Amino acid sequence: MIYQTQIHEIPTMYDVAVVGGGPAGYCAAIAAARHGARTVILESMGSLGGMATQGLVCRLDTTNDGVRPVVGGIFREVFEEVIRRGGISSYYNLERLTRRRGMWTPFDPEVLKLVLDDMVTSSGAEIRFFTRAVDLSMDGRSIRGLVIHDVEGLHFLRSKVFIDATGDGLIAFQSGIPCRIANTPETPGVMPPTLCSFFSHIPWDEIPMHDKSPKLHAEKLKIAMTDGFFSQKDYLVPGIARNCADTGGMNAGHEFGLDALNAKQLSEGMIHGRKLVQEYASYYRKYVPGFEQMQLVATASVMGVRESRRIVGKTVLSIDDYLSRRKWQSQIGLYSKQLDMHPYDESDAEFQRFLREGSAQFQLQDGESYGLPYEMMVSDLVDNLIVAGRCASSDRMMNSAVRVQPAAGIMGHAAGVSAYLCAKSGCSVTCVNVPELQKELTSEGAVLV
Ligand SMILES: Cc1cc2nc3c(=O)[nH]c(=O)nc-3n(C[C@H](O)[C@H](O)[C@H](O)COP(=O)(O)OP(=O)(O)OC[C@H]3O[C@@H](n4cnc5c(N)ncnc54)[C@H](O)[C@@H]3O)c2cc1C
Repeated sequence: MIYQTQIHEIPTMYDVAVVGGGPAGYCAAIAAARHGARTVILESMGSLGGMATQGLVCRLDTTNDGVRPVVGGIFREVFEEVIRRGGISSYYNLERLTRRRGMWTPFDPEVLKLVLDDMVTSSGAEIRFFTRAVDLSMDGRSIRGLVIHDVEGLHFLRSKVFIDATGDGLIAFQSGIPCRIANTPETPGVMPPTLCSFFSHIPWDEIPMHDKSPKLHAEKLKIAMTDGFFSQKDYLVPGIARNCADTGGMNAGHEFGLDALNAKQLSEGMIHGRKLVQEYASYYRKYVPGFEQMQLVATASVMGVRESRRIVGKTVLSIDDYLSRRKWQSQIGLYSKQLDMHPYDESDAEFQRFLREGSAQFQLQDGESYGLPYEMMVSDLVDNLIVAGRCASSDRMMNSAVRVQPAAGIMGHAAGVSAYLCAKSGCSVTCVNVPELQKELTSEGAVLV
């Protein structure tokens, strides 16, 4: 077939090209650019933040191990700035970011967008919004460049080193790195996505504490289920958390069975997800005191995907590493979130499985954490690609813990510094001097031990 569209080559040769502007991507871009690497970040939507902004997942998962912060570096810097600009209610202060493990910290996504515009721009990285990486060209074991699409058409973009922070591991997949996906005999089923949403008119200060807690309003949920109020059986409702003033972000309604790598299912999921948001809003108004007047402000513009594609990297971080709280010589960070495998379907058996994984046997105690090794972000097969964030190399159970924003930010920071070191020295991403990388990360505030 002959195509009509010309692919124009962008004249700049970048040192580091980051694909995806979520926490992995923005931390990587800031890190690489601050070191002086000629850096570009490509984002298919119109803001940075990824799930946190476009997906309305505007709550941070834990940033500490219950005793001390385990998330430092650029990710912490970003959220300290969000706090400074009033984007996190004073109730969720830095103390909480330091010592309250397992507590979500909601934030204002619009403040985060502004902070990221400023921090990424002032790092020197070039931002290209509404730009999607659609294909790539290889030169032996290296990526030569990416075919990108933007409002002007198709372009070819070259860089010495690439960072895949797409969440879906698209660049890794296209470059030939083996990936694990859901719905296979090895990993049957798929962890369901959720279309998140944002509400106003919630008088947070007048609502008793217990009615704010998703666990404690489980009884009300059971009554509503018995009343036949919902179109599907789903006892796990993460709930609504206060973001700013009288607003709250809602994380409710699983899209059971939806494969986020299937275009048709993804489209149908958006349509169904918007209906589910209405259902949960009606439930809150009718059954949960204090939420009677809540009004929908927005549903997310992208599906909230929990599981899609993960690379099989040099090291696959596994459930055994979680259970043994394994630490690594090549550690680029520590993390401490518990497992969080949402039920895969509506069955009671799945819900019981979910409860079991939240039980004592799987819990981390205060002060406990596990290491994130550098090798979970690279493969022997491609010399100039680092993969950070949700699509990094981990088994399914472990991924349920390390897919969240702070962990993605930790990986992104390390990926950015490593990409700079590789671009400078010309070495492959698997041959980077890890002690040098660790030294840089430590000097930039990352918590490595
Ligand atoms: C429903 C739900 C609830 C969650 N709750 C929490 C929570 O409470 N706390 C928490 O910390 N985490 C939570 N998470 C997890 C977390 O938000 C994500 O896993 C995390 O944002 C992953 O970061 P990332 O940088 O890897 O990817 P993402 O945040 O997904 O960012 C990827 C970015 O890449 C862009 N992109 C993708 N493909 C391309 C392409 N080809 N070209 C250009 N750009 C591209 C996307 O537009 C996106 O902006 C939740 C996730 C979901 C789905």
